[in-house]
Amino acid sequence: AADSIGFIGLGAMGMWMAVHLAEKLPESTKLQVYDIVPALVEDLYSKYPHKIIKASSPKDVADRSDIVITMLPEGKHVKTVYLGTNGISSGDIEGKLLIDCSTIDTASFLEVKKNIAKKFQKTLLYDAPVSGGVIGAKKGTIAFFLGCAEDDKEEIERLTNLLSLMGGKIIPCGGPSLGLAAKLSNNYLSGIIAIACSEAMDMGMRSGLDPRVLAKVYAAGTAQNAICDRFCPVPGVYPEAPSSNGYRDGFKVQLMRKDFSLALDMAHRVESNNVLGDVGLRTYEGASEDARCRDLDSRVVFRYLGGNEN
Ligand code: NAD
Repeated sequence: AADSIGFIGLGAMGMWMAVHLAEKLPESTKLQVYDIVPALVEDLYSKYPHKIIKASSPKDVADRSDIVITMLPEGKHVKTVYLGTNGISSGDIEGKLLIDCSTIDTASFLEVKKNIAKKFQKTLLYDAPVSGGVIGAKKGTIAFFLGCAEDDKEEIERLTNLLSLMGGKIIPCGGPSLGLAAKLSNNYLSGIIAIACSEAMDMGMRSGLDPRVLAKVYAAGTAQNAICDRFCPVPGVYPEAPSSNGYRDGFKVQLMRKDFSLALDMAHRVESNNVLGDVGLRTYEGASEDARCRDLDSRVVFRYLGGNEN
């Protein structure tokens, strides 16, 4: 077991992930934490003063931990935290385990990985982006999509033991950066389904159908999927869906815009023919900039597209 684990990035997701670690790691294992916003570090420290050690930089975290987990907004932040001044790679990290859980572009991740491999032969860096939102992070049920080969049993077991303290399913996706590619493919699909579901339901409702009947029809038929069901974009269909709660407490539309645009960049790079991509991107960009939708759950595209909310 590790004596010390590091965690960098105590935002909406990272804070809950760190809370799970603070509560579930063995007594003797310390948690070294860092965020550029000192108040976030103080907040966590005040709740677990015997467990948390406040670090002064990513290097400081890396020097003092056997394993470092990062949860940062975008590729540029990941590059700074790993490769910048006082970054993780300026620390003593030979032979250590590094896990980046941020949703970023695969190119940034691979650049960081290459730079680290040049300096440290025995240091491992994995991509392990997550799905399940802030609610899943709080409940400890997020899924991890791991950039690790399925037949690397020992490594998967080691990673699963640690990641399962913060989440539920852990899915090995292949090699380096394939966890990220899987996450972006997943969010592309769920983003497109939310738009398609909004249009299909609005069309049915305007024809006189009750949206709850429509949801039952989809669930019984070939259109069955989680977005039309548990995350239904139409308010009042599924009581616990963000849409039924004013589109609050969900996956923010700006985050969907970010992930969608990363997914489209990936599609272009690998020359995949995504005919729905431009429509999707335009829709999420528009909704992110619309005052009636900004900061709300991404399924607010139903409202953005003029869906009938009554
Ligand atoms: P967030 O913006 O709330 O948190 C990011 C944290 O990183 C902030 O506290 C910020 O201060 C910190 N940070 C930024 N630059 C830093 C630096 N140089 N050094 C140290 N700390 C730094 O973001 P979030 O919602 O927690 O999301 C994190 C990642 O997880 C993103 O890539 C996001 O796309 C992904 N994600 C988010 C959700 C969600 O529902 N919020 C769901 C799945 C995946």
